[in-house]
Amino acid sequence: MRELLFIKDIKFQPGKKVFIRCDFNVPMDEYQNITDDRRIRSALATIKYCLDEGMAIILASHLGRPKSVDDKFSLEPVAKRLSRLLDKDVLFVKDVAGVVAKEAVNSLKGEEILLLENLRFEKGETKNDEEFAKKLASYADFYINDAFGVCHRAHASVHAITKFFDDGHKGAGFLLQKEINFAQNLIKRPTRPFVAIVGGSKVSGKLQALKNLLPKVDKLIIGGGMAFTFLKALGFEIGNSLLEEELLDEASKILEKGKELGVKIYLPVDAIVAPHFSQDSVMKYVTTQEIPKDWMGLDIGPASVTLFKEALDGAGTIWWNGPMGVFEMDKFARGSFRISHAVAESNAMTVIGGGDTADVVARAGDQDEMTFISTGGGASLELIEGKELPGIKVLLKKDEY
Ligand code: AMP
Repeated sequence: MRELLFIKDIKFQPGKKVFIRCDFNVPMDEYQNITDDRRIRSALATIKYCLDEGMAIILASHLGRPKSVDDKFSLEPVAKRLSRLLDKDVLFVKDVAGVVAKEAVNSLKGEEILLLENLRFEKGETKNDEEFAKKLASYADFYINDAFGVCHRAHASVHAITKFFDDGHKGAGFLLQKEINFAQNLIKRPTRPFVAIVGGSKVSGKLQALKNLLPKVDKLIIGGGMAFTFLKALGFEIGNSLLEEELLDEASKILEKGKELGVKIYLPVDAIVAPHFSQDSVMKYVTTQEIPKDWMGLDIGPASVTLFKEALDGAGTIWWNGPMGVFEMDKFARGSFRISHAVAESNAMTVIGGGDTADVVARAGDQDEMTFISTGGGASLELIEGKELPGIKVLLKKDEY
């Protein structure tokens, strides 16, 4: 890829202001307790670096998908957690682009930190509105993007805002750089054998990634709901399991192409099936040859776990995106957890594609064993698909556009 403007190359001046777009989109329970602060901790490197440079720091992020101003989506709990993690005061304003925010920004001094309220409380954010972006840009002398999770979206605080800073005054933070490096090295020079594990609900969501990965991997393991479209394409009876009928042809083509390229493709050989999509439903283990007509497959079975573990044995690189079953329900989480343990125990470089898969790994208690867990599910997938992400494109050196 063309060269990225990077935080380390910026000549910061103590006392000046820097606007850092972070991804503090953390999960919270119904009492607004943060249940996983990984995304906050991932931003610390960039924040601390700017503190060491003597900068006055303005932090901004989105949280969830609020329709308008809504306290449920306030970033206040994030300010508190961040303050604890940094062992330093973090000022917080319940405002993004109004007078309160402006005044707080104006009185901010070097080595002080201010967190603005949820960017998505302002309509201009998701509309990539230039006026709104200009307002945000007016807060600071420098701009840093460390919000990998939103780089696949052209939103005001990651896209339009970059117009208001020249190349010497903007760049990617440490997390963003790391995310891009991991994805690129994975595609360009993986240690072999390179095994990709894909799962999740739909083939459609990962079709492009599958196509892009196929010529690059040695083995491809397919689990989750999407496996049933492949099984159906091979002529299996899949009952009421998830099916994308219109993609049966594509699924056959992928299996064919795999054969042509010498890529070994693994599909589940058994499944946990239930008559209903519910935690209270009865369930049973069946081979994929014996899925009852009115039942649906909601997790991979133990024989598939053994098969997949065998396929992972000796891997040099493992990339995993998508759960093996409906892991949100305890009953159907085992397949995903056991694959998580297998990936964690391998000697391979292990890259987890964010989103649901990161959640699986965390719940399985394997977080610390993985080489890299991406902070952005959608963005990570798009990088693997070979797409140019809007938020990254605008941070490439100008003469190389
Ligand atoms: P995705 O967003 O495509 O990665 O899909 C993630 C979702 O796939 C999770 O919410 C899982 O509950 C769901 N999922 C995984 N396996 C199955 C399955 N066999 N049937 C239905 N949904 C599934």
